[in-house]
Amino acid sequence: MRQQEKERALHPVPQPVEKMDPKEAAAEWTTVRLQLDILRCGRCNGRLTPPVYDYQFEKGFVTCRECQKILEPSSSNRNHGLETVMESLSIPCPHSAHGCNEYVPYLRSSIANHEKDCHYAPRPCFVKVCPFEAPNGALQVEHLTEKHRFTIYNFSYDVPLRVFMRRAEPLLVLKASDDGVHFVLLNSFDKYSDHNFSVVSCSQYRPSKEMFCKLTATSDEGMELSLDAPVKEWNGFFGTQVSLAVPGYFYGEDGKLDLEIHIYVED
Ligand SMILES: [Zn+2]
Ligand SMILES: [Zn+2]
Ligand SMILES: [Zn+2]
Repeated sequence: MRQQEKERALHPVPQPVEKMDPKEAAAEWTTVRLQLDILRCGRCNGRLTPPVYDYQFEKGFVTCRECQKILEPSSSNRNHGLETVMESLSIPCPHSAHGCNEYVPYLRSSIANHEKDCHYAPRPCFVKVCPFEAPNGALQVEHLTEKHRFTIYNFSYDVPLRVFMRRAEPLLVLKASDDGVHFVLLNSFDKYSDHNFSVVSCSQYRPSKEMFCKLTATSDEGMELSLDAPVKEWNGFFGTQVSLAVPGYFYGEDGKLDLEIHIYVED
């Protein structure tokens, strides 16, 4: 045996483990219960994310980078095992208490950011200064009609609804008699600007078909402005919806705007 071969036999070079194909990897998933305490820094109790370090003087004492720098400035014992576990961990969505059944990666990535879009995430009240927050749906609507005493209109998807909206009226609640889904007509304005009308859906579940809304404002002189746009879910941000801008002179002498709202489902 040549020297080189002898060496190889005595000290076999570890072969890289072949990456599993994603399908196979998926089959390996299982649900486990985990005590989340073990993912906290032993010194500052902060939530651990890689890199994490083993503290050499106490078994099972794992720290974050900052604490490791303080405790053991000269050594660096990364706990790669725990880091690998973290990478594969999924935890219940933080809004699970509100009914969400999704799991989110323990190490939050900006790409798959479920939390932001989570259907059960609390949204602020439609009234800008109000501190109330609730997930979309019944709670929001109940709050709007009971606390703020906003008018609620019943409508049907097939029939346009005509309302007369006062200049300073910030919103109307709309309820589809077909399926009970709630919508809110928002009127965002300030002293200097036009009135901007948009319709958002305010429901706990996502409708299976896309909703659209056609808004038509008519002035006393018969001028018309209209907008036909998809209805988005209320995301808590004012002014990001597509809206119909209506100048102040569209309002009648009685201070009201003639507005037709037609929410419909596309076939
Ligand atoms: Zn720490
Ligand atoms: Zn969620
Ligand atoms: Zn409120």
